[in-house]
Formats: sequence, structure tokens, C-alpha cells
Amino acid sequence: MTNIITDQESAVSEMISKNKWGTFFGISQKTLDTVWGNLTKEDPNSVAYVTMEIGADLDVFHPVQKKLQDLQITSSTNSTFDHYTKLFLHGPEKIPNYGGGLGILAGDTLKSLAEMKIPTVGVSLLYRKGYFSQLVDATLGQICTATDWSPENTPTLYLMRDPENPTIPLEIKVPFFDEYDNRTEACARIWLKLEINHTLDYFTPEILLDYDIPSSPAWIQEAAQHLYESRTDQHKIIQRRLLGAGVIPALNALGMQVSTIHLNEQHGVVAILHLIVSQLQEKLGSEYHLIASDEDIMNAAEAVAANVVYTIHTPVKAGHDRFDKAMYKHFGHTFCGRILHLLAIDDEQDHVYNFTSLAMRVNRATNSVSRLHRGVTKKQFPQFSQKISAITNGVHHLSWISEAKADLYNSFEELQNWQDNPSVFTNCKRLISKPKFRFYFKRAWYEDTKALINYVNAMLVTHRNTSLATWIDPPNYLSYQDLHYKSLLSPDAYTIGFARRFSTYKRADLIFSKLDQLARIIVETNSPINFIFAGKAHPADEPGKQLIKQILSIQEELFTKTNGLGKIVFIPNYDMKIAKLMVAGVHAWLNSPKRPLEASGTSGMKAAMNGVPNISIMDGWWAEGYHDGLTGWKFGMETDVEEACLSESKSTLLYEEDAASLYNVLPEILQAFYDDEQETYIDKCLKNIELNIPIFNTHRMAAEYVDRYNLKLSPATQKHISSLQKAYNSDQVE
Ligand SMILES: *Cc1c(COP(=O)(O)O)cnc(C)c1O
Repeated sequence: MTNIITDQESAVSEMISKNKWGTFFGISQKTLDTVWGNLTKEDPNSVAYVTMEIGADLDVFHPVQKKLQDLQITSSTNSTFDHYTKLFLHGPEKIPNYGGGLGILAGDTLKSLAEMKIPTVGVSLLYRKGYFSQLVDATLGQICTATDWSPENTPTLYLMRDPENPTIPLEIKVPFFDEYDNRTEACARIWLKLEINHTLDYFTPEILLDYDIPSSPAWIQEAAQHLYESRTDQHKIIQRRLLGAGVIPALNALGMQVSTIHLNEQHGVVAILHLIVSQLQEKLGSEYHLIASDEDIMNAAEAVAANVVYTIHTPVKAGHDRFDKAMYKHFGHTFCGRILHLLAIDDEQDHVYNFTSLAMRVNRATNSVSRLHRGVTKKQFPQFSQKISAITNGVHHLSWISEAKADLYNSFEELQNWQDNPSVFTNCKRLISKPKFRFYFKRAWYEDTKALINYVNAMLVTHRNTSLATWIDPPNYLSYQDLHYKSLLSPDAYTIGFARRFSTYKRADLIFSKLDQLARIIVETNSPINFIFAGKAHPADEPGKQLIKQILSIQEELFTKTNGLGKIVFIPNYDMKIAKLMVAGVHAWLNSPKRPLEASGTSGMKAAMNGVPNISIMDGWWAEGYHDGLTGWKFGMETDVEEACLSESKSTLLYEEDAASLYNVLPEILQAFYDDEQETYIDKCLKNIELNIPIFNTHRMAAEYVDRYNLKLSPATQKHISSLQKAYNSDQVE
């Protein structure tokens, strides 16, 4: 017994490592030294991935906790690591630094880069009040509150120390200028989050800049607290600068050097201004701002472009920053205005800087996030058409495959090594007809469905019980009913899931837009059907918030018109954990955006990894993942994409046409599910595993990015990557 404890404890003590900036847990000294060594090379061969948000909650992927559990560590008497084992076993699991798909994609990407051992550092901001927490009230709809969390107590987050004076935190300074070029300094502390791979022998560090500290001016602190703070355009300008202008000082403070800057969307594009200024300084000396000609600036931009890779994520206008030139003067140096004047040109409005246009101009590669989106982006930016390619998004399969499905995949040797190489799922071809595989799949799925339905039912009861204490009226009609088996949800009822940001173009209410028609389909099928919805609307997005109210307001009507067969439930405060429960537990994932505004979409890929078919508009990734009906259903218009299709105004959202088409396919889907044998339904599920997991994962996606990064890789890494690259070529022309 004593011996076992000693072994366990020595295993844990090997998980502690140190350097002059901090002490870390979960990785060995050797791993820390390797990763740091890769990122601090004189002749850099690494990437800084710059992103406004990162979603990587520990409750969907936490390899260090799993290791401790495997070692059967429950508590410890050794004071040197007692702190860590407690924190990693029982500490908070939410890191609310994301708003939606963009952040989760960033987190999934950085996790896959860690698995593939590609030297990368993420750079983002730390938001002390998160994005926002969502309460939902029956009459008020969405209520936004600040998210209460503590980075100090969050596992895998470390505050970097000043190597000169280890008792105090390291701080960097980022300059701001007023219209007379008077300088003010924003100060930030550096938090390092470690995205550790599942074998605990590599990690991707993420630099999270925390400007909400006493040494920063109050107006900086205020702009830094909430992700996508948008009270005024000034707040937005400041927040974008905090990210972009912080990149180089933060890397320098940690001794890091990179050969490529990858902009995940244009939010951090101010980093490019800094690189251009450095170039000019080097060439013209400290008086550069007085003597540089336009030609000098353009030449410097060309040199900087060789080090930048840019991913554009959406054709939707709100996703692209435009700032009033006069307003920008209050934050950036006059010389910065000169660069912007030359490079951040807006084709429509003379008085604004267009940051997408800046990012488009200064890079060596631009990619869109699906094949369809490539075509749309080329139409939107015809002058850059030549350099726009497609790298279709993916999701981190190790985060999104449920435990029950992982157990299933583990028990078939055809799928061996799926953790490291998701391409092996093509072997599922040989399993699809095997009764044993089909049986185990159904059993795992039922387990996932029960987990989701139990969660929802418990929530309905809790909402009712806490309404008096909180003054929040339960958002769900069912919470007001006598809560017994008839009004609660059943795991045997057909369950459709829909969860995403509530933006109008995503048309969350499309399936309910002709309620009588939907009710008739349900009554004719004479079988129960659950609609589980979740998602947040940005606090300033009134039409988005209206959509949430709209869904709440029709719950009773659908229930009544279908004699209690049709139940709609809204789960408040959507996050990664709820997403994982939903994508694995539902029977189909509904995706009803207006084509072609959903550049990719990723939640449907998470469903596919769990063998859950999509019912979707032919937009974004689904145009590639649909496989002529083998993996699910399509509906809606499929006309060629023209400029006119990009309109987001309500009257052009094609509700009539696309809802009619959805109601057309729905009876066939219900029939397939309620058929005794479910053969055709299960075939579609298993085809997702065979055809879609090998493609729509971030290992494959990251392997395609590595190609754009031009890194010199070791033969072993190169081999791993090329096997993933062979799985798919996003940029293929169909
Ligand atoms: C996956 C995910 C998203 C993005 O979903 P889309 O389909 O791309 O809109 C947003 N929020 C959470 C919590 C997610 O897990």
C-alpha cells in the first residue's frame, strides 16, 4: 500500500515544472523546456495565433484531471502538490473567454496543434466579467449579467511573474495616443493558459492579456472587462487595440519569437501596424515618422505581409470592423493614421477605416472557412480573389465525442488509434453492417439521450422551485405544468436540437414559422417530438433577443395544438458543456441559416462526430458534409450565390420558401425514426462516423493550416501531418 502511494506521489511530482516566469502543473520539466525552447528560438519557426476569444472549458476536455483520476489520486498529504491536485480535481471548469463559434474554433484549433506538436502560442485577452451570463425570464426574455469567475482559482491558468522580481506579476505596457499624440500607457498582466495534449507531453500556451488592473487608466480597465464590449464605438476601438497592440510586447516579455502571425478574423489586425512601424524604424531610424514616404510604408507592409496568415470567418457585415477616422484619432498615433489611410481603405465610405481591408491587404495567405464561403469571399473581395483559398473548419474530436461514444469507438479494433488519427474512422465502413456495432451504437446513443433529457427535466423542476427566490419567471411553459411523466420530456420521443448564437440570419424560429403546419405534421405522425433550443443573443442585438422571446412565446400553442405531443424547451446560458450534452444526446441537429451567410458552422460537426445526423440548409460545412443524403437531410434554396443573397434584412430572409421545404422533409424524417427497425435512420448515423469525422476535425484542419505556415518540421511531425493532410483537400475545386 505504502509503495503504491509512493508511486502515485512520484508520478504527480513529475507533473510539476518551473521556469523563470512561473510554476506549472500537468506537464513534466522536459515538456515545458521543449515547448519553451521551440518558441524562443533565435531563428523562429513558430506561430502566434491571434484571436479575440478562446473557448476551451475544462468540463469538455481536461486531460490533467483524467490523469489524476487514472492514478486514483483523490487527495494528497504532500503539501507541495496538494494545492494542485485539489484544484485540478475539484476546481472551476469554466473559462468564460468566449462568445460563440469563433472562440470555440480557436480553442479546438490550439488543442489540435498541441496534439500535433506544432510550435504555436495563442494570444488573446482575459475578460474579468466574461462575455455575459444569460438568465431567461418568461416575459422579459434574455437578461444579461456579468459572469462571476476567478482566474486566480482556475486550473491551467497561471499569472506570469517578473523574472527580475519574482514576487510581483510581470506587466507589459501598450501605448495609446490622443489626437495631439500625447502618450498614455495601458498596462497588462499576462496569464498563461496551457492547452495540454491528451498524452500530457506537449502543450500550446495561450497568452491572455489582463488590462483590468490598477496600473491601467480607468477607461482602459472598463473597455477590457467584457468580451465584445460594444457600448460605444470607442470601447470597440480600444478593445481591438488592446489585443492587436499587445501581441508583440507580450511575446517579447516572455522571450518568444514567431515566424508567422495568424489572424483569426481581423480583430487583432493592429498587430500589423506595429510590425510595419518596426520595419520602418529599422530602415529609417527613430525619426521614421517624420521622413517615411508612402512608398516606404507600402514596402514595409509588403515585407510584413510575408509573415501574416489571415482567416476570414463570415460574410456578415457585423463581423467586420469599420471605425470612424475622426474617432480613431483619439486612440492611435498620427503616423498610425497614415498607415491606415493607405491600407485600411473602405470601398463605400470615405470617412471610415476598414480593418478587414487592412487584413486582406497585408498577408501572404487568406483563407475562408468552407468551399462555399470561398466563393462568397471571392465575390466580396474580387481584387484579392487570387489569394483566397478554402480551409474548411473542424472541431476537436477529443473534446466533442461523448464518453459513451468514446467507449463505443474504443471497443472496435477497426477504429484503433482514433484519438491520434481521426482519419481511421473511414474504417467504420466495415462496421456499419455488423449487428454488434449497430447494437452498441444504439445503446451508447440512448445513454447520451438519457443524460440530456434528465438534465432538461431536472432544470424544469429547478426553474419552478427557484422562481420565488430569484424573481425570474421560468422561461419554459412546461415548468408551470404539473411536473409528472406526461409533461416532462421522454428520451424515447424524437428530439431535435438547435443551439447557436441568436443572430437573425440563423433563423432560430424558422421551424416554428408556420405553427399550424408543423402541428399538423406532428399530429399526423401521432408521436411525441421534443425541440430543445439554447443560445445567447449579443446584449446589443435587439432583433436577436426578440427571437428568443418569440420561441418562448409559442411553447404553449404548439403543446396545445399537438395535444401535448410537441414540446419546446429553452436551456438558458448556453456553454460548451450544454453543447456537448445536446450534440450527443439529440436525434437530429437542426441548422436553418439563410444561405450563404453561415460561412461554416461547427455545432453540426460536433453532432456528426457522435453519429447524430443533421437536418440542414445547404450552407457552410454541410454543403461538403451532406454526401447526397447519406449522412442526413437537406432543405431550402440552393440557387447560385449572388451579391443579392448577402442581404440580412428580414424581408430577404426567405422564411416562406425555406420553411415550406423543411415541412416537406420532416414527415419522412419522423417516419424513419419511428420505424420499428430504424434501419435507414441508423444508416445515416453511422455514415456520419465513416464520412464526416475523418474530414471535419481540427487535426485535419490544423494540418492544412500548417501547410500555409511554412514551418520546418521534424520528419516525425511531418509524417503525422501528411497522413492527416491526405484525408481531405478543402481547397479542391469541385
Ligand atoms: C460549437 C459552439 C458554438 C458554435 O456553433 P455554430 O454551429 O458554429 O453556430 C457556439 N457556442 C457554443 C457553446 C458551442 O459549443
